[in-house]
Amino acid sequence: MTDYKDKLETKLIHSSAGSENAIKSGAVNVPIYLSSTFHQESFDSFGPFDYSRSGNPTRQALEQNIAELEGGEQGLAFASGMAAISSAFMLLSAGDHVLVTEDVYGGTYRFVTDVLKKYNIEHTFVNMSDLEKLANAIQPNTKVIYIETPSNPCLNITDMEGIIKIAKANDCLTFVDNTFMTPLYQNPLELGADIVLHSATKFLSGHSDIIAGLAVTRTKELGEKLAFIQNSFGSILGAQDAYLLIQGFKTLSARLEQSSNSTLSIADYLYEHPSIEEVYYPGLTSHPGHYIHNRQSTGNGAVLSFRLPSKAAAKAFVENIRIPVFAVSLGAVESILSYPATMSHAAMPRDEREKRGITDGLLRLSVGLEHIEDLIKDIDQALEVAVKQVDAEPVIS
Ligand SMILES: *Cc1c(COP(=O)(O)O)cnc(C)c1O
Repeated sequence: MTDYKDKLETKLIHSSAGSENAIKSGAVNVPIYLSSTFHQESFDSFGPFDYSRSGNPTRQALEQNIAELEGGEQGLAFASGMAAISSAFMLLSAGDHVLVTEDVYGGTYRFVTDVLKKYNIEHTFVNMSDLEKLANAIQPNTKVIYIETPSNPCLNITDMEGIIKIAKANDCLTFVDNTFMTPLYQNPLELGADIVLHSATKFLSGHSDIIAGLAVTRTKELGEKLAFIQNSFGSILGAQDAYLLIQGFKTLSARLEQSSNSTLSIADYLYEHPSIEEVYYPGLTSHPGHYIHNRQSTGNGAVLSFRLPSKAAAKAFVENIRIPVFAVSLGAVESILSYPATMSHAAMPRDEREKRGITDGLLRLSVGLEHIEDLIKDIDQALEVAVKQVDAEPVIS
């Protein structure tokens, strides 16, 4: 078991190895318990595990690990980020109301608008960078304020402390999607948030291999309620994926540090490039959320977005880039380039999309572990072609 004074980089590697079952054998890795059911000790004395939906030793090691990393009471592992997020929303009851950040992840948007609504749980989307607007949107039945910071794909920053203060004054819980920052760079529970959520599919696992979700609650009481939902709804993470995720934790700091350093270099490069209309990265001092982000986070992460002048330019860039994978998702060892207008935000009507800055020229890059010089060279050559495309484009008025 790690000492509570150890730094997070140390905890990432050693917390799970401290699980009781690993200690017994001396294995440095947590065993994968592929067992749906467990022998009970006697007719009237049951062991700590009975059935793997309710609890599995490998999953439990992961759950204890993430709880320790986030500084919470209870960690819970789910089959996907959306399973974790949806389960947290299931703490609500019919008649409740939630406030959700305007540029929330697409899957969360869909769950809130299409699923929660059916159960008579109402929502309002608000621009969370405006605290006054947020305070005014609170209703007597508002029970949860849902934050994502930085948000996707324009990396908008929300002042967590400011929001949590308003939430507490109004008896609301605060949920924070911490996928982009991970516990290495941001600890919302320390700021008073109630539940932290992760798509562990991204940086935490880091290798584009598994789909997984995590939740951590600040209090034991909320942890028990969410564990009840996890067991009732049953959307748990399997033991093999729990093992892979624990292995991902161990290299998180090395991966994220290198990727974040590279991202800043790329952001600086793009910022200076005459054909780039906009670069969104909280590490740039020009980013409107830069100072708030620096106050609440210790790193800037490995995702940035940038705007080319047109769809034709974006298309040419994608067709000529050599190293990044052109795909959805982020947070992996390989760089991933995506086109939000037709990928993550395809379901959003054009005017709603453009209001959020997701224009036809916008591209999102999640920076992996390739050599930074190779990445910049590659981006540079793809931009050269993309820029010519702009010039060749017919002007339509
Ligand atoms: C990917 C993602 C999710 C959804 O997670 P899944 O693991 O795909 O279910 C939620 N929030 C953010 C910020 C994400 O990037």
